[in-house]
Amino acid sequence: AEVKLAQAKKLEAVGQLGAGLAHDLNNILQVVIARLALLQRRAGSAVDADVEVIRRNVRKAEALTRQLTLLSGRRHHNARPLDLTEIFLSIAEGLRALLAKRHELLIDVEPGLPHIAVDALELEIALTNLVTNARDAMPEGGQVAIGVRQVPRPDGTVSIDIQVRDTGYGMTAELRERAFEPFFTTKEPGKGTGLGLPQVHGFVSASGGSVSVESEPDRGTAVTMSFPIHAEPTNHDLSPRAAHPLRTG
Ligand code: ADP
Repeated sequence: AEVKLAQAKKLEAVGQLGAGLAHDLNNILQVVIARLALLQRRAGSAVDADVEVIRRNVRKAEALTRQLTLLSGRRHHNARPLDLTEIFLSIAEGLRALLAKRHELLIDVEPGLPHIAVDALELEIALTNLVTNARDAMPEGGQVAIGVRQVPRPDGTVSIDIQVRDTGYGMTAELRERAFEPFFTTKEPGKGTGLGLPQVHGFVSASGGSVSVESEPDRGTAVTMSFPIHAEPTNHDLSPRAAHPLRTG
């Protein structure tokens, strides 16, 4: 089912709040990082281990603020036409690295797809979130299949669908309803933030697309990001010589 409007509004509100919070928090973290370096230089190697722990946790907080920023409307500064074949070639290894040996990763990109105008980094983050969720749904192993294809629509537009499908434990209808809520997670503390699917939704809708989820308990889940593109007129249509004479009768 497509993510509903009320839910989208809620996401937007959280996004605005999150962006402000993330910005302030980030400034604070930068001060902490700077002072930490100073402290280490003054105190010498005796504090190295402690500094390292603090630094690692500050990095985690930084990653969280980045995710919060991604929820907001303040993004997509770098939306530009992307060649999806190229993108997947460059990120495949990174996606593979998220998985374990017991997981199989299949990536199938239809050749010759038209470009879509999105932010490459956000697309990569969205795919990272979806593959991470697929992995977490398959603790015993299984398959993640990413399919990218062109889907013509009756209204003459074409959508580019990027689907991430897993063979994991799936979601109940109730869980599916809540999965896109910011901060909703069923994962252990420290493992889940509940910000993965909201990022996916925020990114896709800001790109003019929509997200849909199909899931069945014990069978698996498929999340599809659907990006609209306008069908390019063919050369034939543009050529004056190809103009058809008006038909009468
Ligand atoms: P997080 O991954 O940090 O929990 P998300 O917003 O990405 O946050 O996901 C929210 C919840 O939706 C997850 O905790 C999980 O319960 C459920 N979920 C998401 N993707 C899947 C999936 N592929 N299979 C089963 N459950 C999923």
